[in-house]
Amino acid sequence: MANEDFLWPHGLGCTHFVEVQKGYMVDPRIVPFFNQLSIACAQAGFKLQIESAYRSFERQLSIWNRKARGELPLLDAQGKLMEVPKDEEELLYAILNWSALPGASRHHLGTDIDVVDGNACPKGYQVQLTNEECQGMFAPFHEFLTEQINKDQAFGFSRVFVPGRGSIKPEMWHIAHLPTSRKSLEKFSLENLRNIYKNTDVACKKVILAKLDQLAQDYIYPYFI
Ligand SMILES: [Zn+2]
Repeated sequence: MANEDFLWPHGLGCTHFVEVQKGYMVDPRIVPFFNQLSIACAQAGFKLQIESAYRSFERQLSIWNRKARGELPLLDAQGKLMEVPKDEEELLYAILNWSALPGASRHHLGTDIDVVDGNACPKGYQVQLTNEECQGMFAPFHEFLTEQINKDQAFGFSRVFVPGRGSIKPEMWHIAHLPTSRKSLEKFSLENLRNIYKNTDVACKKVILAKLDQLAQDYIYPYFI
């Protein structure tokens, strides 16, 4: 196994991250930019609220394995609940519709966050992070974010999962601090990831190991932007 320094882009050993909002941890380098974006949002009447930030390898592994066992809802490409396929390859691609491979999620980097407009959430509302929300209650917020990104006034933040890029479904709510994530991704290694899987109890392990190069081409590298 490689030096531990080189494993934190895979969600292992990220001890230097800091809390930026109620329980959400990020790479400390993005905090000043997050604060600037929060202020810009506030000035436009929006509350930049994080719904997901840093996620460890163990956490992503747990999500992955629970989806494979049917303990968490498995959704098809259209977002509809589906049965857990018996075939391991079918299962792998079904999980990949909405969940990243453990060790290859951009949420491991601490530079990526899922965001909503806290001011638009009805009291007690449980955020789902769906397209319906982005086109509904959070639409004005996303229009504002799009404008800021297009004008290069989002302090380095941008969307990553956009239509036409890679095989992951578009996720409007997911933004990344690209100048920082680029630095972290220099330490990403597919060989380290392969070794991690060999030593991990991950669902669909056989297919993942057999197809890792192709999976990286479709689900990992297109988002190294
Ligand atoms: Zn996300």
